[in-house]
Amino acid sequence: MESLEAELAAARDLDVAELADAIESIGFECTRCGGCCTGYAPDEPGGAPAGEGADETDGAGSGERGSECHDRDGKDADREPHTATVFPDEVRRVADAAEEMSGEAYDWRDVARPMPFGLDADADGEPVGETFEWALATDDCGDCTFYEESDGQGACTVHDARPLICRTYPFSVALDGTSQPMGEAVDEAGVVRAHECEGLGRDISREDAEELAAALKERAVRELEEAIGVRDGYDPAARERADGDAVVFDSEGPKAADGTPIGGE
Ligand code: SF4
Repeated sequence: MESLEAELAAARDLDVAELADAIESIGFECTRCGGCCTGYAPDEPGGAPAGEGADETDGAGSGERGSECHDRDGKDADREPHTATVFPDEVRRVADAAEEMSGEAYDWRDVARPMPFGLDADADGEPVGETFEWALATDDCGDCTFYEESDGQGACTVHDARPLICRTYPFSVALDGTSQPMGEAVDEAGVVRAHECEGLGRDISREDAEELAAALKERAVRELEEAIGVRDGYDPAARERADGDAVVFDSEGPKAADGTPIGGE
């Protein structure tokens, strides 16, 4: 694997017009099926925009708003929670948008939870251990807490502020150090990979393809910048200062599960 810096340089060199060509050739139109915003059955590939499967050890940010589970083809049983990476600045932006939309206060935990990979749970179900990403909060059904559905049509309640991972699903770019949705790519063109999604193969306008391509490039750059920030800011002593609680090492430094920075001595 190239260094993260080399991959970042490659991401910054990505040509948006070429990415748009690739997206146009694959084709995509969102059908608002909700597949990339909801929990998924363990045998259902590509049910989440990012990650490699999830466990249920975090217990954070769940279930306070929105309690009806969306019955997707009768797949409610044994569903895995939706798992999508969100950057720290995106957490704040989504919280602001959700507050504006609802008139209610949204704190960090209402938007994000520690990415569960690598974490364990204590006796109270609270996460312990360390992780390196935030995931969008999920409700009791394992769906993104910002997902709403009526008459089979899904909607994102923070659409204009939704994270890059949501703006670019089901696409990714084949660069090391960037996140790839779970499951094998089902289509590819150039460096663009397409992942399981019922909207693939549909006509897309040049304007929409270019908008998606620009977001895809921005995501690749941001993911690599985030990975470099996490690597450079890693402070193992933060685990001791957290006194047994979970620590999320993001690019801004170590944080508790509620997003509070864990300062130095
Ligand atoms: S933030 Fe919006 S687009 Fe992203 S997973 Fe949640 S509901 Fe879907």
